[in-house]
Amino acid sequence: MNGKHAFAKAIAEIHNSLRFLSATGYHGFDCSQKALEKIDKWGQGPESFSETLNDIRSELGDCQRCRLAQGRNKIVFGDGNPGAKLVFVGEGPGFEEDQQGKPFVGAAGQLLTRIIEAMNLTRGQVYICNIIKCRPPGNRNPEPDEIKTCFPFLERQIAAIQPDCICALGTFAAQTLLQTTTPISRLRGRFHEYKGIKVLPTYHPAYLLRNSEKKRDVWEDMKMLMKEYHYEK
Ligand code: URA
Repeated sequence: MNGKHAFAKAIAEIHNSLRFLSATGYHGFDCSQKALEKIDKWGQGPESFSETLNDIRSELGDCQRCRLAQGRNKIVFGDGNPGAKLVFVGEGPGFEEDQQGKPFVGAAGQLLTRIIEAMNLTRGQVYICNIIKCRPPGNRNPEPDEIKTCFPFLERQIAAIQPDCICALGTFAAQTLLQTTTPISRLRGRFHEYKGIKVLPTYHPAYLLRNSEKKRDVWEDMKMLMKEYHYEK
């Protein structure tokens, strides 16, 4: 290979590498440890490349894997930054979410948006999703078999995003991620772990709408998150 050809090949490889970084959610020049570990895996074969959120959404398709498919209007997959450092996980879509196909856009969602903004973040910087992706009829609680069917997709989303931290909103998110039956009141206020990722459980925004005296606890939890991520507030 002559010098000119080798140079063109190197440029093409750099171009492919940057496209890969961009597709996996990295923007700007990211020299973080996480990015360097990814770069170390380049060239080790396709099995070392994690799937993207788009791959997972495609596989989910027009999901008919559980009974919730019959009553739903739209699947609510998740929304936000595919390379987010912080992921919020709620319970499941309500009426508004089912209409729009987006998580947390109803009354509880507006409160969550205000909480995120009070942390000096935007919804576009974080990723927001739920334990189940279809609205249960009449907003009833998700059944264990519905969670069991849907949760693997959330696990794959989390693996694709590789966040530093997950904020689990409410009982179902916290208990499912942490595989426990401990009440949210005892789980919140400290970090736990899911597959090496920090998990901070807190009260669900819908619960805060009915129990505004608990907002103080949630703000304490959010301050713990901000401290972890070096946000000053
Ligand atoms: N409540 C949730 O748990 N998730 C949503 O997306 C909306 C309300």
